[in-house]
Amino acid sequence: MSDYQHILVAVDFSEHGNHVALKAKALAHFYQAKLSLVHVVDTASLVSLNYELELPYTSLDDLLIDTSKKKLNELNHDLQLESEQKWVKMGSSHNEIIKAANENSVDLIVIGSHAHHGLRILLGSTANAILHRAKCDVLAVRLNHD
Ligand code: AMP
Repeated sequence: MSDYQHILVAVDFSEHGNHVALKAKALAHFYQAKLSLVHVVDTASLVSLNYELELPYTSLDDLLIDTSKKKLNELNHDLQLESEQKWVKMGSSHNEIIKAANENSVDLIVIGSHAHHGLRILLGSTANAILHRAKCDVLAVRLNHD
């Protein structure tokens, strides 16, 4: 098995996110690899939200990006992830996660097997798209739902 040097964990702030992040942390320790975090403010999921909130798009974008940065910092602190980088991206979640991996020499992406929330069910699976399109290895952490 190859030694991983840079592991990227995709964080969606769902109820199972900590479990996925802790798996990535354990792998990073095992391989003595760098660990980075990425969250994507998924613009496809925001379309209906924008109608409800009646905020200018830029204000909503800024709010979501700021909130996401804070939540990533909290996760990093609470789970003592000691992550090298914390990225908040905007756009399509699978595209942005794969792009972040490609641009930063990531050799393993860690994701949850599914999140099953909101519009994502209708729009298709982020996990599936990453598994099929990433250039590096992908670990899908099995998430059991009651
Ligand atoms: P899904 O296929 O959308 O149910 O999500 C599967 C996994 O993809 C999640 O457990 C996360 O690891 C990752 N993921 C999904 N959406 C996002 C997002 N917006 N930002 C970062 N990671 C995400």
